[in-house]
Amino acid sequence: MIERIHTSEVDPDADEVAIAGHVHEIRDLGGLVFLIVRDREGLIQVVFKEEREPELFEAVQDAGSEDVVRVVGKPLESDQAPGGVELAPTAYEVLDEADSPLPLEISKDVDVDLSTRLDNRALDLRKPETLAVFSLRSKLMTAMEEWFDEEGFVDIKTPLISKGGAEGGAELFPILYYDRDAFLSQSPQLYKQILMAAGYEAVYETGTAFRAEDFATSRHVSEIAMFDVELAYIEDHDDVMDVQEESLRHAIRAVVENAERELDLLDVDLTVPEEDFPRITFDEALDLLETEFGHFPEDPTDLDTKGEKLLGEHFAEQGHPAFFVVGYPDEKFYYMQDVEGDEIASRKFDLIYEGQELSSGGQREHDVERMVEVMEEEGVEQANFEFYIEALSFGTPPHGGYGLGIDRLVQQVAGLDNIKEAIMFPRDPNRLEP
Ligand code: ATP
Ligand code: MG
Repeated sequence: MIERIHTSEVDPDADEVAIAGHVHEIRDLGGLVFLIVRDREGLIQVVFKEEREPELFEAVQDAGSEDVVRVVGKPLESDQAPGGVELAPTAYEVLDEADSPLPLEISKDVDVDLSTRLDNRALDLRKPETLAVFSLRSKLMTAMEEWFDEEGFVDIKTPLISKGGAEGGAELFPILYYDRDAFLSQSPQLYKQILMAAGYEAVYETGTAFRAEDFATSRHVSEIAMFDVELAYIEDHDDVMDVQEESLRHAIRAVVENAERELDLLDVDLTVPEEDFPRITFDEALDLLETEFGHFPEDPTDLDTKGEKLLGEHFAEQGHPAFFVVGYPDEKFYYMQDVEGDEIASRKFDLIYEGQELSSGGQREHDVERMVEVMEEEGVEQANFEFYIEALSFGTPPHGGYGLGIDRLVQQVAGLDNIKEAIMFPRDPNRLEP
């Protein structure tokens, strides 16, 4: 490895240090050149003086924005320098030169629209604020996985290519699989359940799901990072919500504790949701929307975007950034249902975080006969689910789980307007590149 330390690790009392990174900024003041070098952890100022180091001063005249350089130097305390320390160079080396001009400014805080940023994503990813999003994301998801590892969940991988979907046909991406039609996976749901039948008891997957939705919103993308969880021997869906609540709290706490620099760069004041997340029924949610806001969702069996936002504001005012809505009236055959007369309350929940759906989950129907009945009532093509029905028919413990949109979680935690800012190389109906 090339010898170097991070800019954040430079000790003002050290005799000499080596750092390396991109040239963030050059300021030429006659006999004095200030070179600001950027690495993953921050910035450092290197001061080249014509009188003190004439040869290096000569060499740095050719420096250009975004060149990759390595500098050896003596740290000196300095009030004006970012981080309070600068380097007096003793060696300067260019590892690679950057072309100019740059199609996107890295160091200057100029307002660029998201689409231009994404068109030039390779450069946009270099910006300290953009890097902060992905550093935060990495810390968040490491902490999330850590929680499940410690609780004894098995880390699984389910296939991304399948014969059919877990949900509907319209949202599937067809692909050619050798000489057959196949689809990109919409959700690992059916496979997670098969693993419950197989006795794996508790599993999680950090995976990918594809949705061919024709959207133009700030919270949808075509390729989604999904965090999926499934656990067996539950009493009911409350056990699943408990897992979701505790793991989310743990992950957010880890960000508050370990990503101070990132939160600072993003100008986010993040609080850990320490209090119990409220759990309200779907009917209570509708009542609240009607009485508090005079709002009626268009589809009376689901909350709409506006409804989620209004309820989010209502609970935020009471100090709850997250809450569950439980017991939707009309749900998929794989959710267990509580039926009373004509009333159906499925054991499905949504978690709303910062006014936006973050996950859907619930208790599954593990009684295959009952599930097949519901499939028939709903007119679901059973042929598409034979492998699943069969797998569950050989003894399946009560179980439940959820799928959480990782990109949406990062969007909310990092305070981003658009979900695409939370994804390195996002995909939407118009974007396949870079
Ligand atoms: P929505 O109603 O918000 O479109 P959904 O109910 O269709 O979401 P689910 O099938 O419940 O989505 O998927 C579980 C989670 O995956 C969602 O709660 C969300 O966080 C995330 N998710 C689903 N679809 C998308 C998408 N197109 N883009 C980004 N995240 C998504
Ligand atoms: Mg959902």
